[in-house]
Amino acid sequence: MQLPLFVKIVEVGPRDGLQSESTPIDTDTKVEFINKLSDTGLSVIEATSMVKAGRIPQLSDAEEVYQKINKLANVTYPALVPNLQGMERALAVGVDEIALFASASEHFSQDNINCSTAESLQRFEPVIELAQEYAIPIRAYLSCAFGHPSDNTITADKVADLAELLTTMGCIEISLADTYGICTPLQTQRILTSVSERISIDQLAVHFHDTRGQALANILASLETGVSVIDASVAGLGGCPYAKSASGNVATEDVVYMLNGMNIETGIDLNALIDAGNFICNKLGRDNQSKVGRLGVKP
Ligand code: MG
Repeated sequence: MQLPLFVKIVEVGPRDGLQSESTPIDTDTKVEFINKLSDTGLSVIEATSMVKAGRIPQLSDAEEVYQKINKLANVTYPALVPNLQGMERALAVGVDEIALFASASEHFSQDNINCSTAESLQRFEPVIELAQEYAIPIRAYLSCAFGHPSDNTITADKVADLAELLTTMGCIEISLADTYGICTPLQTQRILTSVSERISIDQLAVHFHDTRGQALANILASLETGVSVIDASVAGLGGCPYAKSASGNVATEDVVYMLNGMNIETGIDLNALIDAGNFICNKLGRDNQSKVGRLGVKP
């Protein structure tokens, strides 16, 4: 099996990670955290979310964070945009890429954003139109793409339909998320294979949660099917604030360690990444969820 030579890591710690951490982090600390991540060689750092003020208190300073971070020319800083108001806020601070959020599970969509998947896609239309007017690239998350604990209607075909629809609508990258961390490697490959029959594998990213310890195995399975974009969260920050059991984004340090060992390039300085993870864990007063982060590269 031909593995990719280079993998693009999409660092989601400052947004997906921090949004479900309950210890409040002040703006300057978030800015310092993102600046540290920028210095690791990461090429994509999801910086924040333009959600309605109050919905996610941890991210209520989204604009200020976005304006204050030191934006390197070779790094992209996407912001999650939930609706047209969020898109207008993103434009006002010069966001260079946006991320949209849909779900393959109707259960999850209703619980999380109070509408059906079809309705959520309809809401994207004016957002996408505005983003395209300003030539801002659009990435989309498809949550529960690898299953949901109580929704058995998610088939590989349904995921492929939604991924194809999102690309038709104008999204350049579709991040398939295992929101509950329930998938296993062969199922991962079945879903990715069926989606890649409909859209280019180069447009696919994977977003695994390590809730049941399957994330690295699923990532390896994804690499074997040709996926070369991986979402990860430094220090394993966060999970999902709406899926109570879904703690544990896969830790970026653990992913980079694995890729280094497989001679797959990421352009990331693992020691600098470990430092950034330890920095934010100290500020949060919590243990580092990355095993590599806790041990260092050479324990
Ligand atoms: Mg996540």
